[in-house]
Amino acid sequence: MDIFELVKAAQKRIAGHAHVTPIMTSRTLDRLSGAQIFLKCENFQRIGAFKFRGAYNAMSQLTGDQKKRGVITHSSGNHAQAVALVGQLLGIKTVVVMPDDAPPIKRAATEGYGASVIEYDPADASREKISKDLSIQHGYTLVPPYDHLDIIAGQGTAAMELFDELDSLDMLMVPCGGGGLLSGCAVAAKGKNQNCRVIGIEPELADDATRSFHSGKLHTVKNPPTIADGTRTPSLGDVTFPLVREYVDDMKTVSESAIIEAVKFLFYRTKLVVEPSGALGLAALLSGKIQPRGRVGIILSGGNLDGTTMKIILDS
Ligand SMILES: *Cc1c(COP(=O)(O)O)cnc(C)c1O
Repeated sequence: MDIFELVKAAQKRIAGHAHVTPIMTSRTLDRLSGAQIFLKCENFQRIGAFKFRGAYNAMSQLTGDQKKRGVITHSSGNHAQAVALVGQLLGIKTVVVMPDDAPPIKRAATEGYGASVIEYDPADASREKISKDLSIQHGYTLVPPYDHLDIIAGQGTAAMELFDELDSLDMLMVPCGGGGLLSGCAVAAKGKNQNCRVIGIEPELADDATRSFHSGKLHTVKNPPTIADGTRTPSLGDVTFPLVREYVDDMKTVSESAIIEAVKFLFYRTKLVVEPSGALGLAALLSGKIQPRGRVGIILSGGNLDGTTMKIILDS
């Protein structure tokens, strides 16, 4: 199957529903890096993160019967909000299984869009099992956060827009949790511009995908204590792992302090509010983990963080 075609189809499907987010530049960043940096601002996407793209692409393709029965998902936050909002837009009932330590702002937003939230303790229960059991019991369709081609293709539209607007890039840096955004963006990048080097970025504390990428064997990190809560997923998935191996050129990790510095830089220097997961690409750049050259795209994947977390970051 040609996955690039799926990304193109997703771009048509979400047109007029998702925002075409702005691409920002910063002379300070260009000067610091010696390259031309383009920031793709998914913090300005609907629900404040790219996950609206995948959720809309997946849910708009459900059959009438599936839509009537409703959907279920498990998520640490942004995917939940995306599913809830798409459900509201398309008139689909949504149920979200969420860890009991999820950031309050994310839970409140999810409920605000009309989803029912079911809590679980991430230390003992498996969210996959809970949502699977409920989906069987009630006939809900499962909308997974990353390991599904419709989700991956939707997330890839963020990179498509970068290439549509900028024509060519020499490098693209993408945050990685379960690898939906990274694999979709890598497929899009290679489809548009074969020579663009695609690099996935993870927190050091959640380096499962980096180790999986380099070893070819799937590694897992359980409940990693990283501040980048959007990347706390235990591992790449059955669908994303092979795609990351095939389309991504390299993976790098960044320290917690580098992530914090990147969020601060975005706030003070570029006036952008970006959550820790969203700042991973910039963290890799500012901490010297990648050698930038030419035209470099960085996906700022989201901007949902509460005031308490932002204060801790800005004060540190
Ligand atoms: C979900 C998320 C990620 C990670 O995306 P995956 O598709 O799971 O790799 C990164 N940043 C933000 C802001 C997210 O919400």
